[in-house]
Amino acid sequence: MDKLISEKLINQLEGLTTQSSEKVDFLFEEVHDAVFKNTNCLACANCCKNYSPIIEPEEIPIIAKALDIGPSQLFQDYIEMDEDGDFVFKSQPCPMLNLEDNKCRIYENRPQACQGYPHTNMKEMKNHLDLLEKNIEICPAAEEIVSRIIKQLNNVKT
Ligand code: SF4
Ligand code: SF4
Repeated sequence: MDKLISEKLINQLEGLTTQSSEKVDFLFEEVHDAVFKNTNCLACANCCKNYSPIIEPEEIPIIAKALDIGPSQLFQDYIEMDEDGDFVFKSQPCPMLNLEDNKCRIYENRPQACQGYPHTNMKEMKNHLDLLEKNIEICPAAEEIVSRIIKQLNNVKT
């Protein structure tokens, strides 16, 4: 999705700022679950093709073990440090993605950042609208979640 359109969509969530965090989190969780119930991520994999997850230092040995290689080989082949000092995969699409079937080679051991993506059911969602704006550019499910919430907000107004 175009950056300007995602910005416009997120601006329409401004009605949420007057509501309690608990209420907002409950609403996101409810809509997140409903949308993902009918989302086939294997038919999409847009996040694995376009988003670079941060890999926590403690996840390095876990990923190496899942690939049956040592950490030094993992760094040599797949992981580097970005300009912010975070560990990330060296290439995009993610080298762990099988492009033929969109499956993750390390699914059971994938980074937390992948497990939580698109982060539409976090605590204090009201404070994470910037992240949400970035994620709706990539993730059609996140876009659907935001669109449904906007619809609900507009229904309350009328
Ligand atoms: S590690 Fe797996 S889930 Fe995470 S971006 Fe790569 S392919 Fe996708
Ligand atoms: S971009 Fe969203 S819908 Fe697509 S695979 Fe990732 S989480 Fe699933």
